[in-house]
Amino acid sequence: MPIIRVAINVPVDTLFDYLAPDACITDIGLRVKVPFGKKLITGVIIEIHPDTDVSPEKLKSAEIIFREIPPIAPTLLNLFRFCSDYYHHPLGMVVMNGLPSKFRGLKPIKQQKTSNCYQFNLTDSGRQIDLNSIPVRNRVKRRLFKLLLESNSICNSDVKQLSLRAPKVLNELLAQGLVEERLLPPTYTNLTEEPSIPILTNEQENAVNCITNEFNKFKPWLLHGITGSGKTEVYLRLIALALSQKKQTLILIPEINLTPQLEAIFRTRFPCEWLVSLHSGLNDTERINGWLQAQNGTARIILGTRLAVFTPLPHLGLVIVDEEQDNSFKQQDGLRYSARDIAIFRAKQINVPVVLGSATPSLESYYNAINHKYHSLRLVSRAIKQATLPTIHCIDTRTTKLKEGLSEALINALEQCIAQQQQSLVFINRRGYAPILLCKSCTWTANCQRCSSRLVVHLKEKKLCCHHCGHKEQLPRACPECGDQDIHPFGHGTQRVETALAERFPNARILRIDRDSIRRKDAWQNILKTIQAQEVDILVGTQLLAKGHDFPNLSLVGILNPDSALYSTDFRASERLFIQLMQVSGRAGRAGIAGNVLIQTEFPNHPLYQAIKQHDYDSLAHSLLEERKIAEFPPFVYQVLLRAQSHRIDIALDFLTKAAAIAAAPNKVEVFDPVPAQMSRLKGMERAHLLIQSRSRKLLQAFLTTWQPKLKTLSSRKVRWALDIDPTEI
Ligand code: ADP
Ligand code: ZN
Ligand code: ZN
Repeated sequence: MPIIRVAINVPVDTLFDYLAPDACITDIGLRVKVPFGKKLITGVIIEIHPDTDVSPEKLKSAEIIFREIPPIAPTLLNLFRFCSDYYHHPLGMVVMNGLPSKFRGLKPIKQQKTSNCYQFNLTDSGRQIDLNSIPVRNRVKRRLFKLLLESNSICNSDVKQLSLRAPKVLNELLAQGLVEERLLPPTYTNLTEEPSIPILTNEQENAVNCITNEFNKFKPWLLHGITGSGKTEVYLRLIALALSQKKQTLILIPEINLTPQLEAIFRTRFPCEWLVSLHSGLNDTERINGWLQAQNGTARIILGTRLAVFTPLPHLGLVIVDEEQDNSFKQQDGLRYSARDIAIFRAKQINVPVVLGSATPSLESYYNAINHKYHSLRLVSRAIKQATLPTIHCIDTRTTKLKEGLSEALINALEQCIAQQQQSLVFINRRGYAPILLCKSCTWTANCQRCSSRLVVHLKEKKLCCHHCGHKEQLPRACPECGDQDIHPFGHGTQRVETALAERFPNARILRIDRDSIRRKDAWQNILKTIQAQEVDILVGTQLLAKGHDFPNLSLVGILNPDSALYSTDFRASERLFIQLMQVSGRAGRAGIAGNVLIQTEFPNHPLYQAIKQHDYDSLAHSLLEERKIAEFPPFVYQVLLRAQSHRIDIALDFLTKAAAIAAAPNKVEVFDPVPAQMSRLKGMERAHLLIQSRSRKLLQAFLTTWQPKLKTLSSRKVRWALDIDPTEI
């Protein structure tokens, strides 16, 4: 009797066997309801076998196999297998968390009914028919043909309008292969105007041509184009090519906030194409519907954040990862995967091109491009002729007096900007009013009890907030240590800068944009509209504003106090700072007006700021790579972190020490000493880690395969641990 092997969402490294009399080989990839402990749960059938090692008295029967939606295709199951192997994470959890949550429900999945709207056009053979050859008495057929010949394509509503009999005649033409039909997206609007398509710049054209010439095979392309160079237009041309071959395109983007903007661009360019966007803002029904439309091939353009990399795509022809350097492609808990890396694997799996786009590629990708593992395509000038790169100046804050964190030079520049009715952006990557609450008499500072971090002053709400665990408390009136009332917010956050600017420019329209101000759904869309409609003079914001957005009337960017990353212990901090500053600077001067960037720093001569001033990604990237080579950091080695947490730091460290002791790492795999994490206490848990690295990914993987089972024997309930492969945060 057939035995099904089922993926279940439990932290155990095995599939579960069940008896399933009615199962057959085509059921692999289907949902199945099975008894598990005292409950019933739903998993996915991964394998079918004639027998099992489970003893007959223990073997249970599957309850029901759900057949209402098609099974998950073998390629997607293989992708899950790859993730499970590479990230050393249980297959059942990889599968069940990579699928929409409705998969875990105990009921059949209902398919959404769409009000079907079709578009019809003549096929090649249809176009060869001479209208005069259709007998005059076939009036409806003649009129239908005439309509089809005159307009490129028609909708079912047009057909109905023509005559009552027209749909029947149309069906005959469809059956004869003279006409073809296509299901239109629910968002389809019959645009009378053709979307305007710009003429490509030479650089764009070169990029498009290079990829087009090798379109039907796996090749990783690094589209390295400065901000405003028109990478989106390159994507659009490639998507058009994929569509013309009736293939699907997967586009991954880092931020859910960027989806509406890109979605609008894609919908305008491809009004007849079915586009779904998949991101964490969707409810379960929206997500499963989008997923099913991708699975059955209706959706041809799939736009999504990290998790969308697991969408079933039977006709995938092109993969695009925009802002490939972005750290939000890396999941930081559960299956700690990199959506960018999986996207590359997917493209390779089915032999299609993958385009990684960025103005400031990750050092990993840049290194791969230097070594010709990736194929680099450069766009070095802005797409709009009048748009120039902004001029960048540093303001030395050691020699300049600051008023509420703002230098006179920046104030003057803002003033000029307002006078010229242009927009400006003041960037400070810290929300709240002030990062520290300090007692001047005893140097007490407000700290979070549950995290090793300071509480941030939120003056408007009169609260102290922890930005790591969400803890909030009342702002004290006096120092809890010494009772002195002389306690003060110290340092600057967005709220404080906003207040200072409002005092300095009482008539200016100031808008603060940070995670606090965009909490509400749609807030982000309204903000973008306000900016676009030029109802704002000064934007004050965090890195939320740095990414991707196009603000044509923005001519000044002021950057406050970015220095802290320069002396961080995380070796990636300077790379991140550089990328971030390049991105924010890139917001200025995108359209006709010349842009200016002012950076307030204590280290104006630091090579990082020098490189930014020159817009010189390459020289800084090379020097950072040189440093990493000497220090033996990625991309010159591959790393894994064994992360452990416990209520007590000594328990976590003790676990890691034992883990290191049983490692028996082969030559060329290096196991370091356990250390407390940089943020050693988070949400009441003490955290520590053990770093393992090797120049050989293969050796490292082989080592993990033998080490992981041994780690399980060390486990105690007092420690939670996880392996983080290719960690991006140490
Ligand atoms: P990137 O993503 O590289 O930062 P965008 O794709 O946002 O740049 O393009 C910047 C601006 O240039 C957009 O307003 C876009 O419409 C415009 N643009 C892109 N390509 C062209 C072109 N070939 N001709 C004219 N304008 C273009
Ligand atoms: Zn005090
Ligand atoms: Zn906290």
